[in-house]
Amino acid sequence: MPDDSHIASSRRTVLAAAAGLVTAAAASGRAQAAEMAAPRPPLVDPENAYPRPPFPEQSQPWPGLAGKMNPRPDHGETSYRGSGRLAGRKALITGGDSGLGRAAAIAYAREGADVAIAYLPQEEPDAREVVALIREAGRKAVALPGDLRDSKYCAQLVQHAHDELGGLDILVSNAGRQRHQASILDITDEQFDETFRTNIYALFHLSKAAIPLMPRGSAIIATASVNAFSPSEILLDYSATKGAIVAFVKSLAKQMVHKGIRVNAVAPGPFWTALQVSGGQTEENIHNFGGETPMGRAGQPAEIAPIYVLLASSEASYITGQVYAASGGTGVG
Ligand code: NAD
Ligand code: MG
Repeated sequence: MPDDSHIASSRRTVLAAAAGLVTAAAASGRAQAAEMAAPRPPLVDPENAYPRPPFPEQSQPWPGLAGKMNPRPDHGETSYRGSGRLAGRKALITGGDSGLGRAAAIAYAREGADVAIAYLPQEEPDAREVVALIREAGRKAVALPGDLRDSKYCAQLVQHAHDELGGLDILVSNAGRQRHQASILDITDEQFDETFRTNIYALFHLSKAAIPLMPRGSAIIATASVNAFSPSEILLDYSATKGAIVAFVKSLAKQMVHKGIRVNAVAPGPFWTALQVSGGQTEENIHNFGGETPMGRAGQPAEIAPIYVLLASSEASYITGQVYAASGGTGVG
């Protein structure tokens, strides 16, 4: 005859252990939920999240420094929180010293990518800050100054970035040149040539050098503009290059499907960056910068970084040949 009291006692032990497990699982579930819930980002009122025009009078010699702008742009230095979305990735970002490229560089590093930035030698002070921020995120930073108007530099840049990072699976062709002119008659042959060399030739040379080095799953991202769709009358040559970038990206995306490389563009509206205060806009437009958008304010670079992250990440595996805008409500397309 089994000893009932013994069975009852072992059953109690099993039940108690099971209850313990359930309690522990519930506690760990609650802890996980709490961890996932924290930090809880506050709701942001988009209309009033950042400074509205008028902006203080200012101008800088080209190419300008973010560090000398007033107010200083927000590139996400104190706000961007990563969650491993680009862990182990290797990215080259042109114009990574300031503006949209800097915001992308900070976000990529905090998402777990090693990042090479390219910029002009005059921009060393901005570039140093970005290198420090990438390293603070625990990632490898590579600084590769040079002039993208030179096709040889474009090819060397890609090779150096690849060699220094130990691979390359994200190319952000973001550097850009913008000089306002009221009339086509004021645009010199040199300006026309420089704008095209910087904005569209460099995209061609960088892509050509990068594609043979990129594994399946890689991403190419170009920075276009709302000016591709609704060109400003004072940005004739610039707008033409941005239209060319959109067509280039859509065509290259189709070519690259069977190589497993996605190709997309970002179309920013007015963002508060050095390019605008160093000859990109008239003084009057700087004063009222962003005021013409439905939201009535300029974008800050931190507000566009999430698009660069999405387009680079494997979450975007079905997204190619597209143009993503952040423009304060200004329509594109
Ligand atoms: P930015 O001045 O901060 O960045 C532009 C960068 O381009 C510079 O930092 C510089 O490093 C690089 N560059 C320019 N000429 C170069 C050359 N010859 N060789 C090497 N590098 C060169 O300004 P941003 O606004 O962040 O510009 C980034 C991109 O965003 C550009 O393609 C620009 O056309 C585009 N964009 C900007 C806005 C805006 O409102 N700021 C709007 C639409 C598109
Ligand atoms: Mg710069």
